[in-house]
Amino acid sequence: MPLTDPVALTSELIRFQTVNPPGAERPCAQRIGQLLEVAGFSVAYHEFEEGRTSLVASLGGSGDKPPICFTGHIDVVPLGKAVWAHDPFAGERDGDRLYGRGTTDMKAALAAIVLAATRLASLPRKAGIVLVFTAGEETRCEGAHHLAAQPGVLGEAGAIVIGEPTANRPLVGHKGLVRYLVRTTGVTAHASMPEEGDNAIHKIAEVVQRLEGFDFGVAPHPVMGSPTLNIGTIAGGLNINSVPDEAEIGIDIRTIPGQTAEEIQGRLEAVLGSDAAVTNIASEQSVVTDAGDAWVQDVYDVMEPLLGQRPEPATAVYFTDGSVLKPAYGGPPTVILGPGEPTCAHKTDEFCSITKLESSTEAYLEIMRRWCGV
Ligand SMILES: [Zn+2]
Repeated sequence: MPLTDPVALTSELIRFQTVNPPGAERPCAQRIGQLLEVAGFSVAYHEFEEGRTSLVASLGGSGDKPPICFTGHIDVVPLGKAVWAHDPFAGERDGDRLYGRGTTDMKAALAAIVLAATRLASLPRKAGIVLVFTAGEETRCEGAHHLAAQPGVLGEAGAIVIGEPTANRPLVGHKGLVRYLVRTTGVTAHASMPEEGDNAIHKIAEVVQRLEGFDFGVAPHPVMGSPTLNIGTIAGGLNINSVPDEAEIGIDIRTIPGQTAEEIQGRLEAVLGSDAAVTNIASEQSVVTDAGDAWVQDVYDVMEPLLGQRPEPATAVYFTDGSVLKPAYGGPPTVILGPGEPTCAHKTDEFCSITKLESSTEAYLEIMRRWCGV
């Protein structure tokens, strides 16, 4: 296949089934690696489990400036229960739309990055480029965590572009995430004599009420707004004719810069008191870059003519591998920028606009050229 058409390459990547779980990213990662090796990149594969393959591909430059990193994930989410009108693994084209699981999130971006990078490879460069394609992003960023945990694997980067779906609008970050389980305990007894027991469900109901309108004690972020709290699960009681001695809720909190899991846990414990045990089960950092950063403004310069207007500072609603990669690279300026439609990620009949896919390929190349000083 000639390496010139982002639609053809996206369709090819769609045909590698990388639904996570189980993921099975290896064949797709190897195909991407092969294309990059032919173009002159050195490619290394890293598996956090058998067949769960991430790759890091790098291309040097002649000067001292650190490389620019472009990143994306290889895995896609499951199809869901609804029947698709388009084959989810064929890369079917219909007008301006390319259909398939992972078109928007985010194999179109992978194709655009690979094509732009292979074109850059044939040009003289002062700075290099590093491409990080991860496995397992859709579950818990396992691929990115695995890469970041191994010293030296990621190399260095002076700026990061994350190709998650933004309809080609550059975004300067996203909220972080912390999750907790809150458990209440009591004493079981026969349902006919509840006064003999201590009902854990009544206690968890009290917890739920206390969390309504929970005060994080932080001012809203100027771009991201305020943190959010959602109680997503509740469980308790084993049988209807007993007083339950255990109940539990699951809480998902989306954080803004400056908040930590420890600080929020302390605040939860203060509000809930000693009857509720709070356990932190997940924590991913928020990602933010000042929109006034010179390189971000440079990205805005590239995107302005394509979008027909100058981008405004804005952040994504989802989180990304950037939670792991930005700190791993020492916090360089980071933008989220990809051709996919944020509104159709993870949905039935997911598609990507072919026009946006083609313009993102050009935009990525221009961002690379400006950074690499070609
Ligand atoms: Zn994604």
